[in-house]
Amino acid sequence: MTASPALTKPMMVALAEYHESQARYLRNRVASARCDTCAHGGGAHCKKYDMVPPPEVKRIGCEEYEFDNIPF
Ligand code: SF4
Repeated sequence: MTASPALTKPMMVALAEYHESQARYLRNRVASARCDTCAHGGGAHCKKYDMVPPPEVKRIGCEEYEFDNIPF
C-alpha cells in the first residue's frame, strides 16, 4: 500500500473549490432536469414511454431522465 501524498493548505483549498463547483454544476443540472431538456423527449412526446408525459412529470422529469447535452 502506498502512502497518500501530503496535501498542502493551498491544495486543499483548490480541491474544496473544485468540489464546490462540481456540486453547484450538479445542483443546476438537477434543477433543470425536466422533460423539455431530456434526450428522450423534448417536452412534447416522450420517446422512452411513447406517450405525452403528464404535466406533473413534465415539470420535474422522471427516473429515466437523460440530459440532452444542449446547454440552454
Ligand atoms: S424525463 Fe422521463 S418522461 Fe420526461 S421525456 Fe425524459 S424519459 Fe420521458
